[in-house]
Amino acid sequence: MNEKLTIALTKGRILKETLPLLARAGIAPLEDVSSSRKLVFATTHDDVQLVIIRGTDVPTYVRHGAADMGVVGKDILLEHGAQGLYEPLDLGIARCRLMTAGPVGWQGSGARIRVATKFVNIARSHFARQGVHAEIIKLYGAMELAPMMDLADLIVDIVDTGNTLRANGMEPLEEIAAVSSRLVVNKAAMRSRYRSIQRVVDDLAAVLEAGDAAA
Ligand code: AMP
Repeated sequence: MNEKLTIALTKGRILKETLPLLARAGIAPLEDVSSSRKLVFATTHDDVQLVIIRGTDVPTYVRHGAADMGVVGKDILLEHGAQGLYEPLDLGIARCRLMTAGPVGWQGSGARIRVATKFVNIARSHFARQGVHAEIIKLYGAMELAPMMDLADLIVDIVDTGNTLRANGMEPLEEIAAVSSRLVVNKAAMRSRYRSIQRVVDDLAAVLEAGDAAA
């Protein structure tokens, strides 16, 4: 008997955009994921099950082979690394930008700057590339608060509409990376379960292509 292919999905806003794509590829959960407290879902596809977890945990599950494939934001892959993973498809969903941002009208002092972010690796390499000496301060949320409370001069965060920044007296400064959700595959599983994995990749690619054509 063949074990089910497991796809790890990022919960939250990415999930809302992932489910319609998967459904068009013939993979739909058998129950409403938003009203269930379950973490594992059987699907309309006999050989595929879904697990729904935090984005930061998706690469870990897929890297260790606990899930064969996953859907995760590029921001997470850039921050936590993509070792042990293939990234065969850009799903083009949950698009946003990783940016530096500061209080409106902020002028760099020229001296050491303090940067609050949950993306410490991305921030560190961004400022290192620019030769800017930055002290990186790790936060887990509400980055916009840090300059207001004089914890930091700038932040590195995800920007979509920019409304969150504006509502807190800040403005976007530099784009570090464009972000969208990616399909990732465990490298060993790609060899050992090539046929079933490639089938899902091809089906999703066809859905994306049809979507692009319709757009
Ligand atoms: P906005 O106010 O539209 O610029 O949205 C900014 C906030 O929404 C950010 O601080 C993020 O926490 C969150 N956000 C927006 N888009 C995404 C996304 N695609 N992935 C993850 N978080 C997002």
